[in-house]
Amino acid sequence: MLELEILGSNATAPTKEGPASCYLLHTETGLVLVDAGPGSLLAYCSRYELEQLRGIVVTHMHADHSLDLMAWAYRWTFPEVLPRVPLFLPEGEAERVAAFDAVFGIPTLPTMNQPITQSFDITAMPRDGRTVHEVDGVAFRSYAAHHSVPSAALRFESPDGRVVAFSSDTGYCAPVAEAAREADLFVCEATYLEADERSLHGHGHLTARMAGELAAEARARHLVLTHFASPADWDEGRRHAEGAFGGSVSVAVPGSRF
Ligand SMILES: [Zn+2]
Repeated sequence: MLELEILGSNATAPTKEGPASCYLLHTETGLVLVDAGPGSLLAYCSRYELEQLRGIVVTHMHADHSLDLMAWAYRWTFPEVLPRVPLFLPEGEAERVAAFDAVFGIPTLPTMNQPITQSFDITAMPRDGRTVHEVDGVAFRSYAAHHSVPSAALRFESPDGRVVAFSSDTGYCAPVAEAAREADLFVCEATYLEADERSLHGHGHLTARMAGELAAEARARHLVLTHFASPADWDEGRRHAEGAFGGSVSVAVPGSRF
């Protein structure tokens, strides 16, 4: 079994609709958090126990996908110290995590000198589309998305053959299509309705129409649009993506499950 629950899907910051990027994978035996955007810890704790969490996978170290890592790390070591769980990050981000730890580490508390490093077993993901990682019995690979920092598209495959893929933040590129190849669910960013070349191909984002084109190229079975710049774009974005994809399209509304 592999089910996706949307905790938060906003680009940039939480809104009244919910947190910034954070998703839960429900496995046979626990929960895996994909992205730790602001609001993710609160959204998680309002529904689940911390002991149910089996691991965290972060697609890239922009704040709307990772800012709550520090909140998770604080909670992981105080008031009680919880068993360490794996934390997967794109390769090349060790320095940024060390800097984050240096800012918020507490020298007078032994378990919180380097909160993230001390709370989680960190694994760097090479983004090569080949290296197979495992979290709570689910295998996954990471692919080189095109974005302004190392960004990892993800492909999770459950033991019974279910595939859930995430684009991460990305411009249109072949590795992301490969990550989503014939996926049962493809969670794809759709930051804009329209955007200039620099935003799309320089910095690296997609319009909703491009998300539909990417899903069509990957022959994904169901496209879930996420990371809209504004919730006001949800309906029009879905129409744009449907026109380009030709398959079923949903919007990653917080609280929805697939
Ligand atoms: Zn980003």
